[in-house]
Amino acid sequence: MLYAEIVLPLAQPTYTFAIPEGMSLAEGDAVAVQFGAKNYYTGIVWSITDRRPDVKRLKSVVSRLYSHPLLCREQMRFWEWVASYYLCTLGEVMRIALPSLIKPKAGSIEEFSDELFSPRQEHCLQLSERWCDETLLREEISRIERRAPRRAALLGDMLALLTRGERVVPRYQLPYDAPLLLTMRRVGYLESLYRPRRYGSFHDCPFILPTPSVAQQRVIDDIRSSQQAGVTTHLLRGITGSGKTEIYMQFIADVVARGGDVLFLLPEIALTSQLIERLERVFGERVTAYHSKLSPQRRTETFLRLSQSEGGEIVVGARSAIFLPLKHLRLVVVDEEHDQSYKQSDTAPRYNGRDLAVVLASLVGGNALLGSATPSLESYYNTLSGKYAYSELLERYGDAVPPRVVISDTKRALKRGERRGHFNLELKQAISAALERGEQVMLFQNRRGYSPSLQCGDCGWSLRCPSCNVTLTLHRSSQRMECHYCGHTEAVPTACPSCKAPLSMMGFGTEKAEDAVRELFPEHKVLRLDSDTSTSERAYRDIVGEFERGEADILVGTQMITKGFDFGRLSLVGVLNADNLMLNPDFRASERAFQLLTQVAGRAGRRERQGEVYIQTAERDNPVILWVESGDYVAMARHELAERQTWGYPPYSRLLRLTLKYSDSQTLRSAAATLAKRLREHFGGRVFGPVEPYVNRIRGEWIVQILLKVEITSSVARAKQLLLSRLEELASIAEWKKINVTVDVDPQ
Ligand code: ADP
Ligand code: ZN
Ligand code: ZN
Repeated sequence: MLYAEIVLPLAQPTYTFAIPEGMSLAEGDAVAVQFGAKNYYTGIVWSITDRRPDVKRLKSVVSRLYSHPLLCREQMRFWEWVASYYLCTLGEVMRIALPSLIKPKAGSIEEFSDELFSPRQEHCLQLSERWCDETLLREEISRIERRAPRRAALLGDMLALLTRGERVVPRYQLPYDAPLLLTMRRVGYLESLYRPRRYGSFHDCPFILPTPSVAQQRVIDDIRSSQQAGVTTHLLRGITGSGKTEIYMQFIADVVARGGDVLFLLPEIALTSQLIERLERVFGERVTAYHSKLSPQRRTETFLRLSQSEGGEIVVGARSAIFLPLKHLRLVVVDEEHDQSYKQSDTAPRYNGRDLAVVLASLVGGNALLGSATPSLESYYNTLSGKYAYSELLERYGDAVPPRVVISDTKRALKRGERRGHFNLELKQAISAALERGEQVMLFQNRRGYSPSLQCGDCGWSLRCPSCNVTLTLHRSSQRMECHYCGHTEAVPTACPSCKAPLSMMGFGTEKAEDAVRELFPEHKVLRLDSDTSTSERAYRDIVGEFERGEADILVGTQMITKGFDFGRLSLVGVLNADNLMLNPDFRASERAFQLLTQVAGRAGRRERQGEVYIQTAERDNPVILWVESGDYVAMARHELAERQTWGYPPYSRLLRLTLKYSDSQTLRSAAATLAKRLREHFGGRVFGPVEPYVNRIRGEWIVQILLKVEITSSVARAKQLLLSRLEELASIAEWKKINVTVDVDPQ
């Protein structure tokens, strides 16, 4: 009799099940198992043994799922690495690694079926039978051309196809949106169909790559030689517009040509469609998207298809794509590697996709290529210590020149009476000038809403959230006060409840900025991009599209506007208030502020003419401002690294952050104090806290944190073990059982 250790999508260790006579199972197989009275789970066979475990009643595996293993050996080792490094169970890794349809929470047995998914199928559209006549179609196009130009354009594409004797085209090759395609099907022009994906035509048709510039070629040679020298990871610092993507493409082509797979990670799902278009122009059908906005069905299909792929795949995705079953993985590209969204902070495993890319690349004997205009200090440090290879590309591609950065001193403007609303005179004039030249303007403000707080002028009272320790933000469009931590809303107060004095607005958000711009430039169209206006991917794309097509002149927004866009007519970027970026107490605040301001600045003037960036600040002499002004990444990095070394922060140490949450603050505090004391017995001065975070209550739960700083030279594994055993002790004390404790390794 054989037994299988099976990983289930639970925060539990593996479970043992008996393998019924006649069922053949291998490691990495997906199986259905019964758990509890009626519940069925998908599990992954982790190991097989002939030793019967010491339990009375042993359940058997119900059935094997899919005709092939879901995970290969490298992936299993990778999952184990993730679980051990980030202190979680394999089941927790499984929960985020597999798409939801493969791991039904607990469902009925009917839900498991291979037939559900038809991998290798690709969505195509074909011209309906009745329009497969060139003359007829041509007539139809001219008939509807005026009234329905988009339909006519699409039919025009289909006509071109028809003249080549084809009527079927993969969906991704049609640059039209879903609503239009749906209408075209309803009206009867087109039909949907699925057909097997075609691959492998590469050997007889080489990719046509853009010709690199001299500077790009130098970097490509650099990277090639570091890869040949056996260095796994290469960091490329390339300024915005230097053409990093073209460089990545060379290496993607290298790998795919030899039948290897490439994983291309991006921080934002929003950026994938742009990139996919660029990659598809070169690599065609090999490009696949994978991220959380796709339907569970699509994700599942993709996962299953990839698990049986013969290689030659290029997958573009957000951080969770790191868990895709690419058996021939040779290269992981991590673009904008400094971006915080590579870190998953809210649920276990609290992993960093960028760091995992490096781990995975080395596990499979491939390469990682990290790129950014403003690399994280962790990665930059690794180039100094020789762990990563490094190249720089500090000129824009073609004739484009980097923008001119102007620091606009708010204090001086105030003194001279040159400040109105939220604008210093020089910024206002620069906006007018740009608009007069018919160019576009982007304005950045890192808060959404109208005003972050309403305050009583007499007693200082302000309206706070009943369940979080923060002030409520005034939102004018909805006429509500809103909590940005839990979503609670309430009516806008008219006066201070105790003094009856009127309330004044403290600070401003994008909504107010938008109003102010409208007032100053009433004859120009203004758009706003933040999480209030882009409630769906569709809404988001509408706004970006409108600005891209030049239908608006000014775009006001939060962080969302800083990433990756390339707007041809954009020549001026204004940062309305850089100060609140630098006030953050976090040890990474300066690095983050530098990265953000540099990224925003990079949006300006990407093509013909030199762009301008105005940064409004009351701290003219703040080092961050000076580094941004001179574009001096290296000075920033050296200074900040020296600080980190002095204070023993990463990358000179490793941090483990314990977060404890509970509804009763008294119980929470005493538990945290006890835990910290117990930890000090082992770790001494490496334990910091308990401390309350800046926002110390969210959704009715109090929060305290304990920080553990481990020297880079000492054994992190040992520290983790000790930590886990102390946590178990805590959990065994009855009154503290309900306290929610999480551990974040390398918190961001
Ligand atoms: P980055 O990602 O470094 O900001 P991009 O890769 O977006 O830069 O390149 C900036 C622009 O320059 C893009 O429009 C890109 O198509 C163009 N470009 C860069 N390198 C080349 C090249 N070798 N040939 C043609 N166009 C290029
Ligand atoms: Zn008051
Ligand atoms: Zn709240």
